[in-house]
Amino acid sequence: MVENLNLFTSTQEVIKDGLHKLGFGEEMYELLKEPMRMMTVRIPVRMDDGSVQVFTGFRAQHNDSVGPTKGGVRFHPDVDEEEVKAMSMWMTIKCGIVDLPYGGGKGGIVCDPRTMSMNEIERLSRGYVRAISQIVGPTKDIPAPDVFTNSQIMAWMMDEYSHLRENDSPGFITGKPIVLGGSQGREKATAQGVTICIEEAAKKRGLKIQDARIVIQGFGNAGSFLSKFLYDAGAKIVGISDAYGALHDPDGLDIDYLLDRRDSFGTVTTLFENTISNKELFELDCDIIVPAAVANQITAENAPNIKASIVVEAANGPTTEEATRILTDKGVLLVPDVLASAGGVTVSYFEWVQNNQGYYWTEEEVNEKLRTKLVEAFENVYHTAETRKINMRLAAYMVGLRNTAEASRFRGWV
Ligand code: GLU
Repeated sequence: MVENLNLFTSTQEVIKDGLHKLGFGEEMYELLKEPMRMMTVRIPVRMDDGSVQVFTGFRAQHNDSVGPTKGGVRFHPDVDEEEVKAMSMWMTIKCGIVDLPYGGGKGGIVCDPRTMSMNEIERLSRGYVRAISQIVGPTKDIPAPDVFTNSQIMAWMMDEYSHLRENDSPGFITGKPIVLGGSQGREKATAQGVTICIEEAAKKRGLKIQDARIVIQGFGNAGSFLSKFLYDAGAKIVGISDAYGALHDPDGLDIDYLLDRRDSFGTVTTLFENTISNKELFELDCDIIVPAAVANQITAENAPNIKASIVVEAANGPTTEEATRILTDKGVLLVPDVLASAGGVTVSYFEWVQNNQGYYWTEEEVNEKLRTKLVEAFENVYHTAETRKINMRLAAYMVGLRNTAEASRFRGWV
């Protein structure tokens, strides 16, 4: 059988299974199998050399029965409609798992910011907001950062939206710089959430973080902060990687040194001669693997060779369904993306709450609230997996879909 690498259709399969196990029928699946709204826009941008380039952008809104939709905007050459749709569905599930009053949304622009100037990125970001302004807003759909977007881009988008609406609208977008209403702890939130999930998973397996040998794929926002947290906690980071290759040291890499040398897109391995491939990285002798890069990294091909006993998905969609089954059958504890990477949107929610009330919390308060939410979410998913004898991904989908399905039913949609 050929493995299904299509993120959209494989997500639909798990949604179908999850809704069925929750006792919902075919009509609920018909409602939730696709986003309720998908907007495609074309954005003309004046480039620095005077020419005009027209970019394609998307915004998907999966379901807004529990509240406004929420999710990041990705700037990447591989962005396409199906990926954005799938990611909006994952956002619904993430928000449900940590019990936020949001449905899922997601945006993306097909572009390569690594080859663009800051001025071009600013014009593109503002053009995107103008193009989607009718369907977004603090009580409609709230964007945030994702792959290759950051707080500066959020600031431009917020400024553009505030101009269009002729009022200051900090709650329109999250992941902003602190001086523009950003939240303490937001930048590190995804990595913080992954760390909490690693700690909880390690407890279940009787493993101490200080004794753990960890491999992290990806050195972007999540991977870099995460490697620092774990390194400072005493773990041995035996492998890390970026898009160009991977570094390995069985005695543990010097993470402070590598962080010092990475560029703003997370590239560091190009500075070294002795590198291994991303494929070899996953087969290293280690206890915990954290895929924190892109989708479809652990497949039926490499899953049987994985030696780790815990896999925690910091990226969106890094493990295929077939690989999820192989790992679960081998006894690996797999903490799925929709749970492990929910720290980002959780602190985005805290940011939006602080914007709405105009009163701001300390980093300690934010981190404590984040920990409470994630530990509870982890327990819920773990307990569901144990009692139903199903894998952690299906359990996470069940926990994550329940609010949206029930709210849709109460509203009389199904
Ligand atoms: N892009 C992040 C995610 O995929 C964060 C979304 C948000 O903060 O709304 O979870």
